[in-house]
Amino acid sequence: MDTPILHSAADRTRGRFAPSPSGRMHLGNLFAALLSWLSARSRGGEWLLRIEDIDRQRSRREFAEMIEADLTWLGLDWDLGGLEGRGMDGPCVQSLRSERYESALSRLREAGLTYPCRCRRKDILASSAPHQSDGRVVYAGTCRPSAMPPFSVSDFREGSERLYVPDRDICFDDRLFGTQRFNLARECGDFVLRRADGSWAYQLAVVVDDAEMGISEVVRGSDLLLSAAQQKYLFSLLGAECPAYAHFPLLADHTGRRLSKRDASLGVDALRSRFAPQEIVGRLAFLAGLLEKPEPCRPAELVPLFRWEKVPRREWIEVPSGMHWR
Ligand code: GLU
Repeated sequence: MDTPILHSAADRTRGRFAPSPSGRMHLGNLFAALLSWLSARSRGGEWLLRIEDIDRQRSRREFAEMIEADLTWLGLDWDLGGLEGRGMDGPCVQSLRSERYESALSRLREAGLTYPCRCRRKDILASSAPHQSDGRVVYAGTCRPSAMPPFSVSDFREGSERLYVPDRDICFDDRLFGTQRFNLARECGDFVLRRADGSWAYQLAVVVDDAEMGISEVVRGSDLLLSAAQQKYLFSLLGAECPAYAHFPLLADHTGRRLSKRDASLGVDALRSRFAPQEIVGRLAFLAGLLEKPEPCRPAELVPLFRWEKVPRREWIEVPSGMHWR
């Protein structure tokens, strides 16, 4: 890995929250922020805020500004990162870090670990069998070369660029869900690192950033368990240390449908008009198993109560409809 931009003390936890500024946050994002903040703070660690705006079409600076204002309103402070790049040389914003992703990708390419892919989205959908568990598409390997041909730079410019993945299990220990095992060849196939339009794929950007920013633990929703295996593999190829992972069950309605930006009543805007920040924190802490009742409290009061063992280990956590707890 290239020189880290942020050094961390070997024994000090550094967690992070990495929202995509494509809209205002909702209750699920606040849950993620709170758990990741508590996990880091309960170990006396630091918390970094990274704005993940690689999707240039959907990301807006105003949303990033609102994310910062909403986190502050909730009582979550970050020591590092954010738009002003606290404790760093510049803003902690992915769109400003292309050179770092380019440099990591060149290393993988020079090691013969990537290949150009000309498949279009509709070809991939037509040629791949959806994964049985959730309909996710596994790349069938249409452009995967059978032997390792020497590619020219221009070959890589005309389509997307994919990483060869091995047909063996990648294992990691999740703090909540325990030992995880994924065969990437079967679960996702060779995955994209750079898209045909030149934009960076989440998997590459997140690994380069977590490595260079000295992140020691990653806390996020369980929809990203497979991504953790993809990322662990990338960390190993880049010679960087993989952080510890803790994935938590997503918030969902009573049918198990995960919360999304469509649920307007659970958007931060609506929540802020109905609740004080301590009321939301108390309700989230109750859902996370940290409080016996959903009573108002500040994030700092939860620090001594936080333990991963208390967080429910289920597929999802049900949010009472409309958060009508009054
Ligand atoms: N930007 C990603 C998201 O909002 C971050 C996921 C992660 O924490 O790695 O889903």
